[in-house]
Amino acid sequence: MRVGKKYQLQRQIGSGSFGDIYLGLNVISGEEVAVKLENVNARHPQLDYEARVYKTLGGGIGIPFVRWHGREGDYNCLVIDLLGPSLEDLFNFCNRRFTYKTTLLLADQLVCRLEFIHSRGFLHRDIKPDNFLMGAGRRGNQVNVIDFGLAKRFRDPRTHMHIPYRENKNLTGTARYASLNTHLGVEQSRRDDFESLAYVLIYFVRGGLPWQGLKAQTKRQKYQRIMEKKLSTSVDTLTKGLPQEFNMFLRYARELRFDDRPDYVFFRRILRDLFVRQGYRYDYLFDWKFVAKRGREALEEEKSQELDQTVTTTVTRLPGSQNHPNASFEQSLVDKSQLHYFGDALKESDERVTSPPQTQPGANPINSTNPNANPNANPNSNPNSNPNANVNVNVNPNVPQ
Ligand code: ADP
Repeated sequence: MRVGKKYQLQRQIGSGSFGDIYLGLNVISGEEVAVKLENVNARHPQLDYEARVYKTLGGGIGIPFVRWHGREGDYNCLVIDLLGPSLEDLFNFCNRRFTYKTTLLLADQLVCRLEFIHSRGFLHRDIKPDNFLMGAGRRGNQVNVIDFGLAKRFRDPRTHMHIPYRENKNLTGTARYASLNTHLGVEQSRRDDFESLAYVLIYFVRGGLPWQGLKAQTKRQKYQRIMEKKLSTSVDTLTKGLPQEFNMFLRYARELRFDDRPDYVFFRRILRDLFVRQGYRYDYLFDWKFVAKRGREALEEEKSQELDQTVTTTVTRLPGSQNHPNASFEQSLVDKSQLHYFGDALKESDERVTSPPQTQPGANPINSTNPNANPNANPNSNPNSNPNANVNVNVNPNVPQ
């Protein structure tokens, strides 16, 4: 199948709650791209909306560029930059724990991404490791944000008026990383993306969150249990043994008022100060590069011993993968042609992450072109049974629900 005349679909590389992602080839330039497909008969179509959010955020560092979007046969299609593995993939690859160094290297970029998205007037509303993808090739050290299907405009592009405070909202996002207020049904604002980011960082350094793996009969009961556990776990308990900056980050996020602008600069600064105090270098030597290097060394060793191993079986034994629940995880990295991603492991990088451009959160085509998308969706009607997947298909940023 070909979309947008020149993008040839190669193979599936991912699947989401709302559609599948394919590796595509630009048959003219030979460049690889990612193609997101959604059936035109989808119950809650959202790809068109997502494409427009991407375009509004276009030009921001770490926001994939939209090459084409439109309809092809029975599918709505979105052609964007091909990216590397997600932070959740890499977390698994590293035996489900990141060092402080890797977490802080990531945190610096993650806070920047939030600041940029918010500066353009949007909330992401589904901040989680799965939605941050490292770049491919030369951009391998750059964190990118994907999945803007749940994004919502939080202020008027012209007047800058903040959306009103509301209650009794359905849970939108992913329960594991949802803010307390989101669990309690309060309309989301910048503080909730910030609080979710705090959980993501704590998840990375602790290796998990206390409300993972709770059992319940129904999804609703499960979200209830997650909320109760979150409410009953104090910030001090959650961040016990971690540098105080993690405690400060979460405490601060929880104390923000509904329409407060988080102090992104302050948090980047204290996290950078911590990084320097620990004696780390900004060399982008993320944990996964060491894991990959050890894997390659093991591969070389086996080759030199003339063992008759295929790349696939050897890769499956990469260090750090033993506990991965998905036995074919490394295979999937190979399938995604992402092993080359680790090619530059341990090579010093002089690429610096700079602050994203501060753009005028004004001109946004969405306001004029998307006056009424689906304003209400019930999480119970969501067919996605994965408790860690996002749970609401409520996608209209302009009509506060
Ligand atoms: P959904 O909105 O349906 O949940 P996502 O946009 O989150 O779908 O994409 C689903 C999966 O596809 C992601 O977790 C990721 O593994 C893969 N993916 C998405 N976008 C890209 C991309 N630009 N490059 C490479 N892989 C991608």
